[in-house]
Amino acid sequence: MLYKWGVIGHETQLSALENDIKSGNLAHAYLFSGPEKVGKFTVAKKLAHILQCPDNYCYTCNVCKQIEKGGHSDTIQLRGDDEAIKIEQIRDIIARLNMTANSNHKIVLAEDIERMTPEAANCLLKTLEEPPPKVVFICTTTNIREVLPTIVSRMRVLRFRNFSEKFLINAMTKEFPDTDTEAIEQVCSLAMGKSGQAFKLLRDGELLSHYRTLYNDILRLLETETVSERFSYIQGIYEDPKLTRDFLDVLLHVLRSRMLSEHNIDRNKLMKDITAVQNTSSFLKKNINVRLSLENLFLSL
Ligand SMILES: [Zn+2]
Repeated sequence: MLYKWGVIGHETQLSALENDIKSGNLAHAYLFSGPEKVGKFTVAKKLAHILQCPDNYCYTCNVCKQIEKGGHSDTIQLRGDDEAIKIEQIRDIIARLNMTANSNHKIVLAEDIERMTPEAANCLLKTLEEPPPKVVFICTTTNIREVLPTIVSRMRVLRFRNFSEKFLINAMTKEFPDTDTEAIEQVCSLAMGKSGQAFKLLRDGELLSHYRTLYNDILRLLETETVSERFSYIQGIYEDPKLTRDFLDVLLHVLRSRMLSEHNIDRNKLMKDITAVQNTSSFLKKNINVRLSLENLFLSL
């Protein structure tokens, strides 16, 4: 690698970006698409550093420090939260892009752009059609199908994937040499292929025990044939969207791991179960009767 990315994995994507820089073929807009917590926004931010820093992403110059703190005037950051991105925010960004740049580029870092309202998306589209000079949009999405296709077609899309457990174990062992192997293996199994999640779990014992509990609950619930036991569990989680989301994530992970590892299984049934969990997750996102969809899910598993 030419640059000091300091990220785990994604070598194909990083090489593609380095080629774009080297060949002077930088896109006006990038879209990093893929599952959450695999490092898409981290890569986006590092790319911003590499493009703006006068000295190969040195970590120490004023530009690097300002970008790190979110205070660099030519590097606008729109971090992800649960709120929609509104047209006013896009207008505000465009106004800033039209001011003279003091740096190499005018960069917009935007996380989870599927959150844009249709009005915001249309407003952004106009800028993507005729971008002001020196502008580079570096955007991420966890659900590219929810991004306006005309926007996607104007961006250079790089796809990111979950890591394999084996890869993650190797990477985390290097990052945390003082942590014992057993703990790392457990964290990597619970991190479900997500490096960001593995980092979080290794640093946050409470979160780790939360996931460990969910994992054990799910194994127990899958064992039991008793509908009432499953339903009373749902009773305990459905009012907490975050907990329900975590629960479905871990359930999906358990089912997918079974698909990969066990020989004596009904793959068609497992495939159906996986689809059912994915559907329930999307119902949850759209706030469709969560309790009912969880109950239906548990009746079909
Ligand atoms: Zn620097």
